[in-house]
Amino acid sequence: MFLFDLHCDTIGRLHDSVCLKPGESVFLTDRERLPKEDTLLHNHGYLALDRMEGIDWCQCFAIFMPDQYRGPDAIAYFESCYRYFQSQLAQNPSRLAQVRTVGQVKSALSEGKAAAILTVEGGSALGGNLARVGRLAECGVRVVTLTWNGENELASGNATAHGFSGFGREAVAELEQAGIVADVSHLNDRGFEELTGFARRPFIATHSDARSVHNHPRNLTDDQFRHIVSIGGIVGLNFCVHFLADDPDPAFPRLAAHLERFLRLGGEDTVALGSDYDGCEVPSWLDPGEKLPALYQEVCAGFGQKIADKLFFTNAADFFARWERGM
Ligand SMILES: [Zn+2]
Repeated sequence: MFLFDLHCDTIGRLHDSVCLKPGESVFLTDRERLPKEDTLLHNHGYLALDRMEGIDWCQCFAIFMPDQYRGPDAIAYFESCYRYFQSQLAQNPSRLAQVRTVGQVKSALSEGKAAAILTVEGGSALGGNLARVGRLAECGVRVVTLTWNGENELASGNATAHGFSGFGREAVAELEQAGIVADVSHLNDRGFEELTGFARRPFIATHSDARSVHNHPRNLTDDQFRHIVSIGGIVGLNFCVHFLADDPDPAFPRLAAHLERFLRLGGEDTVALGSDYDGCEVPSWLDPGEKLPALYQEVCAGFGQKIADKLFFTNAADFFARWERGM
């Protein structure tokens, strides 16, 4: 099975568990902390290299930027997580390769390695400085989620009410120029609307569901989804139980309802996966990540293998290939 997952918080969860003392993390509760011995290869979280063996796996690993960090603190936190990410790559050269292009994804998979795409969840990683876009590009960052839930230097997340700042508009242009994709998951509706007016390149939603299926501000409205279809972007289905349904442990039909809605809105070439593993609670049948083949089987049975393959891999790979060609 081929898998291209647009979002997880595994690096941040491991970083804070291993590199910070109990009580120091603003991201993890004590219950969410992993044992200090855990690594990307072997851990008690949702995604581990050893447990995912056997899946042709391309994973977008986000460096999650908590809203408590701004300016120099945000930059220091990003750099600390980036060092941790590099340490995990260095410890697993035969199992994992950082990739920047679709060609590199395919090479890594053909060598039997997992492909790691670095992303950033929160434009606060720029520390309010446009020159930091160059640093992110140098680190191999391919996608930046513009905000988390709060307001940052760029724009306002879904828990706040403002739109883009002048800096935010400049930052999007700079990211586009540097070949880094803007991600609107977590952005509020006003920001989404504004971005449709000034973005020069397609943008994506890495981990968001359908608001017309489950009314949550983290989910996309039908019009927002249709807009992403029209610009050739992609949308990763999020497994977070709170975005899927009111049910604390939603079964496959609840997730299928979101997929079906997106397909009805013309999203056959737009739908992808954005698991949000290690960033939220997911249904028990998807916990942990090595259970994903069960989802593939369900999607094949309910929607056919062609849709399953597009959802699981092809749409995301095709998007990045188009992006590289300068769509
Ligand atoms: Zn998120």
